[in-house]
Amino acid sequence: MDIETPAENYDIVVVGGGMVGASFAQALSQSLKEKCPSVLVIEAAGPDTAKELQPSFDARSTALSFGSRQIYESMQLWDGLQDCVTPIHEIQVSDKGRLGSALLNRGEQNVEALGYVVENASLGVVLNARMQTSSVIEFLAPATIENISPVPNGMKLSVSNGEGSYAIHAGLVVLADGGRSPICQQLGIEQAKESYRQHAIISNVSFEQAHNNIAFERFTDSGPLAILPLRNFEGENRCSLVWTVEDENSNALMQFDDEEFIEALQQSFGNRLGRITGIGDKFCYPLSLSIAKEQIRPGIVLLGNVAHTLHPVAGQGLNLALRDISALVDALKQAVVTQESLGSMNTLQSYIDRQDFDQQKAILFTDSLTKLFSSNRGTNVASRKLGLLSLEIIPAVRKSFAEQAMGLVAR
Ligand SMILES: Cc1cc2nc3c(=O)[nH]c(=O)nc-3n(C[C@H](O)[C@H](O)[C@H](O)COP(=O)(O)OP(=O)(O)OC[C@H]3O[C@@H](n4cnc5c(N)ncnc54)[C@H](O)[C@@H]3O)c2cc1C
Repeated sequence: MDIETPAENYDIVVVGGGMVGASFAQALSQSLKEKCPSVLVIEAAGPDTAKELQPSFDARSTALSFGSRQIYESMQLWDGLQDCVTPIHEIQVSDKGRLGSALLNRGEQNVEALGYVVENASLGVVLNARMQTSSVIEFLAPATIENISPVPNGMKLSVSNGEGSYAIHAGLVVLADGGRSPICQQLGIEQAKESYRQHAIISNVSFEQAHNNIAFERFTDSGPLAILPLRNFEGENRCSLVWTVEDENSNALMQFDDEEFIEALQQSFGNRLGRITGIGDKFCYPLSLSIAKEQIRPGIVLLGNVAHTLHPVAGQGLNLALRDISALVDALKQAVVTQESLGSMNTLQSYIDRQDFDQQKAILFTDSLTKLFSSNRGTNVASRKLGLLSLEIIPAVRKSFAEQAMGLVAR
């Protein structure tokens, strides 16, 4: 429920009500029901924030893995999402101008869909609606944290919402404020950061032909290009574009008019879906790998982009964060049962112990794929030819790739 004035004490304060913070709050309240601790979500963007300035529920689309569907189902959110997702039945992976391509399909993997594409804005509508009707979660927006410091049994926060400044004590702070967190800087939590020297250009694209629920991942000379199926709108065959390009090319592409941009895109993507008939507004994101050197301290845990920001090439960021959320909620549930403090290192370490391997694997998978497919050095070209070939012909390689892509991680 929306509130205007926060209380002085909460068991849990979530900083950031974006895709990860809002999903965590829902998962916790759904899992613990009447035993749910008191939760406050603080979000910097308000309902009047312009769409282009809303950092989470913006113009992008997200490919949710099959595993993420299961997590949203357990949060009773899938029913609301079902009407706005487009299932992926097939994934075609190819390397422009070279032999070697691979096809993954739902029949072989024995699932209803390999994944689902949702527009971030639609995910935001569903998550925010649930937050507003929750009797457990309090939601304060727009509001920001002015100061945060550790105190015995938790953290002390100073929060401002334009009407006033409030001092709040939290037993546990769940930090989900995204990849440019000033709060981490304030607390001296460092990030290991490596720029990929690439930008992702995103837009919605219309094609002459229907996508037939196929997602395309095409590796071009300028970088990986993903075309994801979207719901038709006003008779348009719509797809979502994520085009990774080197820094020096991104400016030029962003300055192209629609006709020039469509021509460049058509050349890189080819004619798989016929002619490109339209392009929406374009947005550009700098890409880097950024990993927090500490994810937990007494009274605080980092979730989502502030914990690990990955390259979007394999669509792993939110999917990994949802698995983190699921593991953290389990650890907190266990703490409630054993009456352990929610912010204790015992509780938080049990979460990290469970997720560490999954995080390392997703980071390695994304980083290796990015580096392998972003360079035309002879060894890389040969390795990716071999990679695509093995993906095509070796069932065990296909299975393991598909499982990582579908977010089906064995626990
Ligand atoms: C081009 C692109 C495509 C992607 N595609 C996929 C995909 O297909 N599949 C996938 O799984 N992942 C994908 N990702 C990754 C995914 O977008 C991220 O994992 C996700 O956005 C992380 O969400 P977050 O809530 O941690 O951070 P953010 O989305 O950055 O949200 C942070 C929230 O915190 C709020 N906030 C910030 N500071 C404060 C403060 N001081 N006080 C209060 N609130 C604050 C912000 O307003 C915002 O709402 C993609 C990323 C990019 C760049």
